Amino acid sequence: MTHSLYIHIPFCRERCTYCAFNTYTDRSPLIDGYVGALENEMTFLATLSDKVPVHTVYFGGGTPSLLSPVQIERILQAARRSFSVTDDVEISLEVNPGTVDKEYFTALVQLGANRFSLGVQSAQADELMMFGRLHDWVDVERGVSDARQAGVTNLSLDLIYGVPNQTLDIWQDSLQRVLDLGPDHLSLYALGLESGTEMTRQVKYGELPSPDPDLAADMYELASECLAAQGFIQYEISNWGKPGTFCQHNLQYWRNLPYLGIGAGAHGYANRTRIVNAMRPEDYMQRLTEPPNMTLYFPQTPATIKAEPINDETDQFESIFMGLRLINEGLSLATFEERYGFRLEDKYGEQVKWLKDKNLIIQKEDRLFLTPHARLISNLVFEQFVGEPAG
Ligand code: SF4
Repeated sequence: MTHSLYIHIPFCRERCTYCAFNTYTDRSPLIDGYVGALENEMTFLATLSDKVPVHTVYFGGGTPSLLSPVQIERILQAARRSFSVTDDVEISLEVNPGTVDKEYFTALVQLGANRFSLGVQSAQADELMMFGRLHDWVDVERGVSDARQAGVTNLSLDLIYGVPNQTLDIWQDSLQRVLDLGPDHLSLYALGLESGTEMTRQVKYGELPSPDPDLAADMYELASECLAAQGFIQYEISNWGKPGTFCQHNLQYWRNLPYLGIGAGAHGYANRTRIVNAMRPEDYMQRLTEPPNMTLYFPQTPATIKAEPINDETDQFESIFMGLRLINEGLSLATFEERYGFRLEDKYGEQVKWLKDKNLIIQKEDRLFLTPHARLISNLVFEQFVGEPAG
């Protein structure tokens, strides 16, 4: 089965105020050694399995664009040595405005990178400052221009909505300014107040107002209408793209198909096993300098701190809730039956009926889809497939 490959780069220059990702702002001297550890982890995986086919490689973080093109090349070469990377592989990189220039994009395009995701987050100076982002709008414009001049044809821009003090007009302005840059793809995320972040502290102590979930829902609806009018296809709850630009790597997750997770704190799912790696870069690197002291099975590596077998029930639930996230593809009942050997309705008939009655899902031919209204409360839909049905 074709796999995806996720590579985590846990380094940033500064921590954004809303960020709870596994990333570190004081470890840049580690970067070169960390790249060596990534090479070792992939080399180790290759000893456990015949070269698995890999059709997407995704550099996420953190800030992958803090790696030099030479370091990215070393990682890609290790991936090609360790796995059977397909000729049409999608290679994506998350990049931060202000950390990249035309030469950087050009070098990466020459290495085969063919999809870039630029972390714009906002077009408003005060919001960027509130987020603690290191870039301004000029950096964003320059980043887009540099990417295009380097020949990037699949450029995604990220924005955050539901932000303290953000009005519908301000959101519409950010969205329009981003659309004026001519992206191929957009990811729009509702602000989440994660535990332990600076922004969560600021909201808790009244330094910032709490985000308003009803207003965030209005922003989401406004964006959905605006993007549809401009020819973007919404293919996932938070993702829109022009035809041919959908992120194949993320589609692998949403189709509940296998992926390898390499790097500090990375998660993977393959061989019906979910794995989690050591979080701190130092621990991750240390583990990969020593031979394993126990027998490991694919996709475990010496960096793995948790390997959890996925039982049928969990796998089925994950296929359902990930599949329902896919707005235009939906959850295929035929694929479900083929994968698990029984009809979804035979096990979850009551839940499906209740959700249809509530106009939260609809069926078209052999596929189930979230209704537009349900996209805003998708967790309520997904919960129905855990435990006893509601109603
Ligand atoms: S750049 Fe991204 S990963 Fe780094 S601190 Fe900001 S949000 Fe987190």
